[in-house]
Amino acid sequence: MKVLKFGGTSVGSARRFRDVASIISGAGKNIVVLSAMSGTTNSLVEIAGYLYNQNFEGARDTISGLQKKYAGVIDELYAKEESKAAAREYCESVFDSISACTKELFTDVQERMILAQGELLSSFLMATLLKELGVRVQVVPALSFMRIDASGEPDSDAVKASLRKLLDEAPDADLYLTQGFICLNAREEIDNLKRGGSDYTACIIGAAIQAEEIQIWTDIDGLHNNDPRIVKGTSAVRHLHFEEAAELAYFGAKILHPTCILPARYANVPVRLLNTMDPQAPGTLIDNRADAGAIKAVAAKDNIAAIKIKSSRMLLAHGFLRKVFEIFESYRTPIDMICTSEVGVSLTIDDTRYLNEIVHDLKKYGTVSVDLDMCIICVVGDMDWNNRGYESRVLDALKDIPVRMVSYGGSNYNISFLVREEDKAATLLALSDKLFSND
Ligand code: ADP
Ligand code: ASP
Ligand code: MG
Repeated sequence: MKVLKFGGTSVGSARRFRDVASIISGAGKNIVVLSAMSGTTNSLVEIAGYLYNQNFEGARDTISGLQKKYAGVIDELYAKEESKAAAREYCESVFDSISACTKELFTDVQERMILAQGELLSSFLMATLLKELGVRVQVVPALSFMRIDASGEPDSDAVKASLRKLLDEAPDADLYLTQGFICLNAREEIDNLKRGGSDYTACIIGAAIQAEEIQIWTDIDGLHNNDPRIVKGTSAVRHLHFEEAAELAYFGAKILHPTCILPARYANVPVRLLNTMDPQAPGTLIDNRADAGAIKAVAAKDNIAAIKIKSSRMLLAHGFLRKVFEIFESYRTPIDMICTSEVGVSLTIDDTRYLNEIVHDLKKYGTVSVDLDMCIICVVGDMDWNNRGYESRVLDALKDIPVRMVSYGGSNYNISFLVREEDKAATLLALSDKLFSND
């Protein structure tokens, strides 16, 4: 059994719904994970924002815009009147439940309920289409099996047990359909796996059922060697090791949710990135094989803060780094990069919610300075330290760019740099030019 996940653009219009229906109905008894139609989750976030600010008119306008969009899709999507009627009735109930939030004090529980509606809508529309086409589809509701624990991590044991039971209850289905992104949390409330989280849903499911393969279908022919939104002429990487893909996803390659590769890697289930607009294209295969001697791709992660603590008094004393780390831990703030010298340590974080408190606490141990609006550039490939010349090729590409930090040796697959956000595009271009151009 495989897991096939289709992102927002893959279900972005009535035509795309039909394309996906034809891909999945010919692919066997698999689990299909759907995202919200592209733009929907953004609109739902916008509605929640209006409701927090008690701008009910703004909320109503956005709700009615969405209602029109879905009415148009339904008109175009189905041949049978009964399918249209069922889909219209479902949409009405969804938009009624969102509109009901304009009458009360808005809470974060309601916000998460609203954000869940995009995936619920697209899976209902797809299930209705498949039934119209004569496919025996079994909807397996994500809210019946996808769970996160009190620290927001997937509860793999609970997912595995509930999902297995739900699949076993419908042995005659041609295929199973579920929603990406949404889940229940430890308080039994509707929650989600963060933006872009449908990829994570697919990989958690793939690991839970020990799938043959996890396929992430999107609007591009695989993971490219640089960010195609910034650099022209990028090309798809045909093969990546799990760790290379995990680093690229974590360090900004938007095609994958930052942590989605982890469950697949632990379960050793291959992940394939495929293009819904060009289903025959080979895409990118991610598994546990490494390609010796290859630099694969570059990615960038914005909104990074760099914090430097200088202390000639403390650094050589043992226990200094532990005290520094404890401060970050007490604010549940993960550290991305770290560089040390005899007199100081520089660290980066992307979650700056507690930056002021962290800086305040760090001042006990030395002089603290902060650089905001920084960007981590991550170069991924075979970066084994025994390979000669790889670091120098990368560094050479950056000779005209001011580099604030360099991190190498933390893994066999990555060398990372911290640069100013304003230098991001120039850095990505320079790296593509030096590492991937054929001339
Ligand atoms: P989906 O809606 O299917 O989840 P996303 O928008 O999340 O799709 O991801 C696909 C997009 O990621 C592509 O259209 C592309 O613009 C962007 N992207 C950013 N970096 C990369 C990369 N290194 N390789 C491929 N796509 C990338
Ligand atoms: N619909 C959600 C989002 O837009 C989840 C996803 O698309 O993966 O973030
Ligand atoms: Mg995505």
